Amino acid sequence: MASYEYETHEYDVVVVGAGGAGLRATLGMAEQGLRTACVTKVFPTRSHTVAAQGGIAASLSNMGPDHWQWHMYDTVKGSDWLGDTDAMEYLAREAPKAVYELEHYGVPFSRTEEGKIYQRPFGGHTTEFGEGPAVQRTCAAADRTGHAILHTLYGQSLKNNAEFYVEYFAIDLIMSDDGQCQGVVCWKLDDGTMHVFNAKMVVLATGGYGRAFFSATSAHTCTGDGGGMVARAGLALQDMEFVQFHPTGIYGSGCLITEGARGEGGYLTNSEGERFMERYAPQYKDLAPRDYVSRSMTMEIREGRGVGAEGDHIHLNLSHLPAEALAERLPGISESAKIFAGVDVTKEPIPVLPTVHYNMGGIPTNYFGEVLNPTAKDSNAVVPGLMAVGEAGCASVHGANRLGSNSLIDLVVFGRAAAIRAGKVVDAEAPNPVLNQASVDAAFDRFDGLRHAKGGIPTADLRLEMQKTMQSDAAVFRTNESLAEGVVKMTAIAAKMDDLHVTDTSLVWNSDLMETLELANLMPNALATIHGAEARKESRGAHAHEDYPTRDDENWRVHTISRVDGNKVELSHRPVVVDPLTTEDEGGISLKKIAPKARTF
Ligand SMILES: Cc1cc2nc3c(=O)[nH]c(=O)nc-3n(C[C@H](O)[C@H](O)[C@H](O)COP(=O)(O)OP(=O)(O)OC[C@H]3O[C@@H](n4cnc5c(N)ncnc54)[C@H](O)[C@@H]3O)c2cc1C
Repeated sequence: MASYEYETHEYDVVVVGAGGAGLRATLGMAEQGLRTACVTKVFPTRSHTVAAQGGIAASLSNMGPDHWQWHMYDTVKGSDWLGDTDAMEYLAREAPKAVYELEHYGVPFSRTEEGKIYQRPFGGHTTEFGEGPAVQRTCAAADRTGHAILHTLYGQSLKNNAEFYVEYFAIDLIMSDDGQCQGVVCWKLDDGTMHVFNAKMVVLATGGYGRAFFSATSAHTCTGDGGGMVARAGLALQDMEFVQFHPTGIYGSGCLITEGARGEGGYLTNSEGERFMERYAPQYKDLAPRDYVSRSMTMEIREGRGVGAEGDHIHLNLSHLPAEALAERLPGISESAKIFAGVDVTKEPIPVLPTVHYNMGGIPTNYFGEVLNPTAKDSNAVVPGLMAVGEAGCASVHGANRLGSNSLIDLVVFGRAAAIRAGKVVDAEAPNPVLNQASVDAAFDRFDGLRHAKGGIPTADLRLEMQKTMQSDAAVFRTNESLAEGVVKMTAIAAKMDDLHVTDTSLVWNSDLMETLELANLMPNALATIHGAEARKESRGAHAHEDYPTRDDENWRVHTISRVDGNKVELSHRPVVVDPLTTEDEGGISLKKIAPKARTF
């Protein structure tokens, strides 16, 4: 058994992650006087949320008529009827409140002439339950909305005496024998010391796992660490087969050009200069949801109408927009286009390609953020002491496909919901749980095993194999053949985790070891993704299966539950929550309005 000395810290709540979700949860906990620690592997304002450009959705009606029920309807339809209806109602209803709170905390939103929060159109956001024109619902701080939110929430958290443990890497959850989460084991990256956080509630806010793929818009730190920890604790992941490809990653680098660019009037063209989205989505055109636009682009390329020497990408045009509008509303992406594509957006189109962007699946939770441990008897059973919020979690409000600007609102609505719930279930006066030493020791053993791994494959090589396989076999379009091949390949790749080679065994700033821990987290996420995709014999949202091109509500309107053990994945299902929180008589949405139907735009 490995022996490491460690320091123990006691808190009411430990939040792992300091992106938008983690910070909103931390702030909410601290505001209520709970002793709260936030542990993060990168400095809070370097979390991936800082890169969010386009904005945050809420039916404020600042630019024209809007209603939370329209937002809810769009989210239900956007999810291709896989989201949980109670959570989607909660999101749409609470969104305006959550945005005004951000405003009052100090987020510097862009403004209208009258001084109200500026809102822009975004894909899939409509009026009149999908019958009316596109709506301006996405609140924006130019094209740096995530940056503005993150800095504000960090400042507010400090003001409320939350304690930050920066550049601490969470290795594993501490679980009691009867399944209660009691804390988390961490490694302090800059001095090599070890730390055990003992808490009454642990909140995972560790973000997505885009880096399981070769080309992704997400930061290199998006390695699904929360999902990895949960899988190792024997807990479930949900709907992992649903991976969003954003239509406009810059060709080559994968760097994102926000959907706000199309919201402000940009449009896509093929090699014939045709605005082809008019053919695929006559009503909403370039503002159809992302899965729709990504598939349309891929079809244009396949049919020989791609642009460039290889005919393998598409053009995004902004040069018809006034230069002042570009400078005011889209300054960040004008800069990105210059740096990463060498393009002056006022004169030339940007070369773009669908790029992995967002994970709809994650750690299953209810709409309070409490982690579910679905069993055959009770699909809504919760794990005591554990919550998950943000992209790491799956409430599930995005179902099979997320609408643009619905993630930032998910972060703050459910970060806030988790804090409200913790205020009720965490007793600040009660003693902390007595730590299960066997669970702490197991975390150090695993850490030590990876630290001294002396097999044949360097971490970077195995990571690349995984990324290339996921990119080609779990792509925009999937087939029986590509998925079956993906499962076989990924099973073999995951088995090679036992043959890793780590060169550096030091404990101070050991990036080799940190990337190995991250790879150990990416792997279960990737395995659950490819297995879930292989099993789902239908097309829904981002899962476009060429051998089963239609949606099959009778057999497949269910959540995929996966439990990953080593390189094995066990799949089961959990029913979708179809009932909203309130009935029509109570002011809620009419069930008829949200009944499943064909999803066209
Ligand atoms: C380029 C880009 C642009 C986007 N634009 C928009 C947009 O305009 N609107 C929108 O709604 N959505 C947008 N999205 C999606 C949205 O930004 C993300 O889904 C969201 O920011 C995720 O936030 P999070 O708080 O869940 O995680 P993150 O912001 O990714 O933060 C994760 C946190 O967890 C910590 N962490 C992770 N693992 C560990 C560990 N092992 N130990 C300790 N700490 C750990 C990290 O340090 C970090 O603080 C965009 C995404 C990208 C990639």
